[in-house]
Amino acid sequence: MKNIIKNLLLTIIIILIPINAALSMEVAITVDDLPANGDLPLHHTRMDIANKMLLVFKKHHIHGVYGLINGVRLDENPEELAVLQQWIKGGHLLGNHTYHHLDLAKTDSINYIADIKKNEPILSQLMLAKDYHYFRYPYLSEGNAQERRDTVRKFLLNNGYKIAPVTVDFFEYEWNDPYVRCLNKRDEKSIAWLKKTYIEQANNALIIAHELSKMLFNRDIKNVLLIHINAFTVEMLDKLLTVYENHKVNFISLPDALSDEVYQINPDVVRERAYTFLNQVRLSKNLQNPAIVKKLYDSLPEDQLNQLCR
Ligand SMILES: [Zn+2]
Repeated sequence: MKNIIKNLLLTIIIILIPINAALSMEVAITVDDLPANGDLPLHHTRMDIANKMLLVFKKHHIHGVYGLINGVRLDENPEELAVLQQWIKGGHLLGNHTYHHLDLAKTDSINYIADIKKNEPILSQLMLAKDYHYFRYPYLSEGNAQERRDTVRKFLLNNGYKIAPVTVDFFEYEWNDPYVRCLNKRDEKSIAWLKKTYIEQANNALIIAHELSKMLFNRDIKNVLLIHINAFTVEMLDKLLTVYENHKVNFISLPDALSDEVYQINPDVVRERAYTFLNQVRLSKNLQNPAIVKKLYDSLPEDQLNQLCR
């Protein structure tokens, strides 16, 4: 009986928070995998996706967003250089996400560092005097070996790079390919479900960051949101930013977010996947997720997304 009441209360809390709570958090938006992420709907170009994203940022008065790039795309799609140029022209910035989107759990440190360097000519050509030394680990992975972790961190530090951590993440890229499949099938009902669950999980990610931050630091730290440059996120971006604004989220720049002293912490968690910065700090302290966080993580509809519109 006690458990039933506890679960009931938890459910009520989860339902109430997204509607009522003004979380008043500071969030820097970052966009991964420029110039392209995920499948593309028919009759759309990568430039269409980028232009739509830039327009939404403009509408919400958001400037100086760091887009983290993988140069490899330009080998096969040289025309996508225009996406990166448009990004800069729109008042935004570029950073490094390795050339080949490598996973440090599957690559040795020598090759990994060479791949970071391989991205630099494109970055310096486009960014000119502006600082492109922001690095986002693909898969947020620092690998499952201490030597790789330490060697790459040392390289970054010695070469003026700042690690671009993530605290707000809802695996939003997982919605894109189902969306493209459902568009092809003209399955409006499934598309409506995708839109609904995307916003639900965006809300949940904010609450998770808030709860973990409160548990670990007794305050809301400055946050970093991870999204990707794909068709569905662009479709949802205006709504996503509006929902966050309704939670009194204040959008800040990545350098501003990184000025928070918590980012001096090296969680030093060595495992293949350790996810967000907050989750890594939690793991480093051997703490369990708060019940509400566990529940929200469990609500991620990964299996349904995989099956949808097949
Ligand atoms: Zn990526």
